[in-house]
Amino acid sequence: MTRIDDLPIRDELRGKSPYGAPQLDVPVRLNTNENPYPLPEPLVRRIAERVTEAARSLNRYPDRDAVALRTELARYLTRTGGHRVTKDQVWAANGSNEVIQQLLQTFGGPGRTAIGFEPSYSMHALIARGTGTGWISGPRHADFTIDVPAATAAIAEHRPDVVFITTPNNPTGSAVPAEAVLALYDAAQAARPSLVVVDEAYVEFSHGDSLLPLLDGRPNLVISRTMSKAFGAAGLRLGYLAADPAVVDAVQLVRLPYHLSAVTQATALAALEHTDTLLKYVEQLKQERDRLVTELLAAGYEVTASDANFVQFGRFDDAHKVWQQILDRGVLVRDNGVPGWLRVTAGTPAENDAFLDAVRDLKKEHS
Ligand code: PMP
Repeated sequence: MTRIDDLPIRDELRGKSPYGAPQLDVPVRLNTNENPYPLPEPLVRRIAERVTEAARSLNRYPDRDAVALRTELARYLTRTGGHRVTKDQVWAANGSNEVIQQLLQTFGGPGRTAIGFEPSYSMHALIARGTGTGWISGPRHADFTIDVPAATAAIAEHRPDVVFITTPNNPTGSAVPAEAVLALYDAAQAARPSLVVVDEAYVEFSHGDSLLPLLDGRPNLVISRTMSKAFGAAGLRLGYLAADPAVVDAVQLVRLPYHLSAVTQATALAALEHTDTLLKYVEQLKQERDRLVTELLAAGYEVTASDANFVQFGRFDDAHKVWQQILDRGVLVRDNGVPGWLRVTAGTPAENDAFLDAVRDLKKEHS
């Protein structure tokens, strides 16, 4: 049998593993930070209408610049982000993973480096690898907040071309204060200057505000967003960024022509028509997230503060063993490889009850 390493693949890919959150068929799946609520029926019908309309022109390539969609995304950001954003400042792709890939293809690449403060979203490092960008793992405090003096020192030392700041951070949950982002941005500009990518995939669940207002006068700042979480549309694959229009122009150099299908654009436009309904689920999920925190603490677990739709909990001598024990009780959570900690996504009240029953049960077993 031919193995991957028998193939003439790039050296830096040899022996590596792909991104692989398990997709297991268990009753309660709380492992990939999805929104547990299916799209409401009126929206499902609207998607069908819009897609039917798009199907009539599928013989043609889609709008390469996705102008209608970018206009609506800009409107959404302006309405919710406390800052006026125009369509020229917005770019969209197939999930924010593709947005990040396009950014690294444009601003990273061979001979260049990117830094992230770990533990954080593992795909930043993996996409860096896939684009031939060197990866630097930056520091955090023991409580998982960014150690700003150590982080600025790391930026000054390594002079990376791209800096990733995930806020709220995945998998640990807490948001990064605007002052910290500004300090890192200034350090990155002094060192090189470099592109600072603020990954706000979970910002709609945060106690605080989006950092969109920081875009003013900062051409090397990018805010990355997604419809996979708050909009409950992970299956759609729609991510987007807001930045200086020059950044949007720059990513045109690497994006594949017609990368965003007409079906994707039509579906995303339909979802944006139902923004208000979709964001009501966000409020419910925030309450459930807070309930998970309270109940985990009451059950004797430790948690890290969460501004997202998930909670990191622990601490365990052997987190993977506990992951398996929770799975044995029919609940799939996430082992992100952070020693001592696991992560649970806020689900429906019934799913969260099932999770809480499982972890309470485990405590009883061990007491
Ligand atoms: N950024 C962060 C921090 C994430 O956690 C995720 C998904 N887990 C993404 C980006 C990518 O999301 P998508 O490609 O679905 O937009």
